[in-house]
Amino acid sequence: MENSAVAGKTGVEQGLQLCKVCGNHSISKTAPNHCPTCLNPISVRTKNSLQKTWAFLITAMIFIFPANLYPITYLLKNNIRYPDTIFSGILSLMDSDMLTIAIIVFIASIVVPIFKIMALTFILLAIQYRWRFSRKKQLWIFNIVDWIGKWSILDLFVISIMVAVFDKGQLLSVYPGIAASSFTIVVLTTLFAANSFDTRLIWDAKK
Ligand SMILES: [Zn+2]
Repeated sequence: MENSAVAGKTGVEQGLQLCKVCGNHSISKTAPNHCPTCLNPISVRTKNSLQKTWAFLITAMIFIFPANLYPITYLLKNNIRYPDTIFSGILSLMDSDMLTIAIIVFIASIVVPIFKIMALTFILLAIQYRWRFSRKKQLWIFNIVDWIGKWSILDLFVISIMVAVFDKGQLLSVYPGIAASSFTIVVLTTLFAANSFDTRLIWDAKK
């Protein structure tokens, strides 16, 4: 193939671009905007990838606070509202001898979102400030974040578990609090942040 890659040179230096639709690669000089094979819009790197990823990530960083500090559920019992944050919910699950569910809720609603935000922030900073940190390890960390993203529906499912568990079949009235929408925003924005990130930027950051 005429577009064969040259060892020791990055894809950007060679103007190599990969089509995400048909998987063929081409050279940006000969095919500047569209894939010559399937005519899909194409560019050497995802446009504004870092800016988009930062924007979603910063939104997630902001909303993780109300998600954890405000009540995620309200229990209405004898006309009194009992608020529960994610953390107090986990504690009451433990009190009710539901340790396994408490651990699942803790991992899905506290550990995973914080890990995703910290890992993506680390990779973005490593790229921007050209930290001397193994690029293979950066990609490996990103792949974990991306893999967890596939399970994001579990994070949202957790809210329903909490509502169902607190209800305990006693026909109590449980309502979602403001933290529920904040938590949903955190789940979605971390997902979008990972999707906007172009992993090839890791290899572009020359040391
Ligand atoms: Zn194509």
